[in-house]
Amino acid sequence: MGAFEAVRGFFQGSAERLGLEPEMREMLSRPYRELAVQVRVPMDDGSLAVFPGYRVQYNGARGPYKGGVRFHPQVTLDEIRCFAALMTWKTALLDLPFGGGKGGVRVDPKLLSEAELERLSRRFMHAVGHLVGPTRDVMAPDVNTDARVMGWMFDQYSRHVGWHPEIITGKPLALGGSLGRDAATGRGALVCLDRLVREWGWSREETRVVVQGFGNAGSWFARLADEWGYRVIGISDSKGAVVNPGGLEPHMVLAHKRETGSVAGFYGGETLEADELLGVEADVIVPAALEESIRADNVDRIRAKVILEVANYPVTPEAEQVLLGRGVTVVPDILSSAGGVVVSYLEWAQNTQHERWREQEVNDRLAEMMTAATEAVITRSERYEVTLREAAYDIAVARVAEAERARGYW
Ligand code: GLU
Repeated sequence: MGAFEAVRGFFQGSAERLGLEPEMREMLSRPYRELAVQVRVPMDDGSLAVFPGYRVQYNGARGPYKGGVRFHPQVTLDEIRCFAALMTWKTALLDLPFGGGKGGVRVDPKLLSEAELERLSRRFMHAVGHLVGPTRDVMAPDVNTDARVMGWMFDQYSRHVGWHPEIITGKPLALGGSLGRDAATGRGALVCLDRLVREWGWSREETRVVVQGFGNAGSWFARLADEWGYRVIGISDSKGAVVNPGGLEPHMVLAHKRETGSVAGFYGGETLEADELLGVEADVIVPAALEESIRADNVDRIRAKVILEVANYPVTPEAEQVLLGRGVTVVPDILSSAGGVVVSYLEWAQNTQHERWREQEVNDRLAEMMTAATEAVITRSERYEVTLREAAYDIAVARVAEAERARGYW
């Protein structure tokens, strides 16, 4: 099953439970607009490379399209469509005044020089810039894109249109970026977990957490979880895993990764193969890498009680069925990975008001919004006896459908 089809299945379940009218189902089960472009990059050796790029605008009923841009060799239109749909449900669930979109370029950025990466970022903005704008489509970082890339894209846009920091979020602080944006996805996921842990009557100290993927979201999540008193006992990246049942020090693991290129070989734990991490006995597994990391063919290894989705679409529907059958709780990505876009919204709000907020204010608002959404999902899941994912989708889909109806459908 393709990634988009899987996520469309989550929507369709919701459409059924909510009794959505047929035309609404038709509108919300496909993207509104898709753009495929050539990203032409002059390379350092004088050659020209042409990479396929995409921007999918899934739904804009509740506000400007919103979502990140990823640079990755596996990017396909189907995958970007899947993430654009997820962004639509994510922004609706968190009640942000945005729709959902996503962009990507099929390229391995690790093979590019810094100058080539800058040209790639600028050329991508050049190719999709006519769709972008503070009231139209607001891009942001995602896999392999960071504040630096956002800064170049912002500059490229501004050269033509003038100073508009609110056309893109996750910018460097010097260009109107927000304090707290870098840590936001990890922090938001932790706030969500913390609220659930309280609900289940667990203690932080006894909750053993394993983090799969040590990029921006995974590394912030692990460091903050450790600070908050959780026991982080396993961490992996694409090259290997490190495990210590007594607890790891995630900030030291990060220092090791920065030095050696991987978490593997960290002195404070035992090194395993990357895919062995899923089988580690823990309470919570946090997939924070790429999509479909928990699938039918590896789900049987999992021994945890909870999966907290910090990546987008990390658990396939087949794997989720197996997990649910075994009584494992899956906290859905549109809730637990929403911290990034929440602080993107706070950045956009600061930019549109020409303000700058203190980091504590940003973190407090993030915590407030993540807690409210988590509580709404828990309440709905209990009231209607549905899973957390079903409850989250039902809240989100109902909001988008209501906005579509209020606008007169077009
Ligand atoms: N890329 C992040 C996500 O998937 C953030 C998107 C944004 O801030 O717009 O949620």
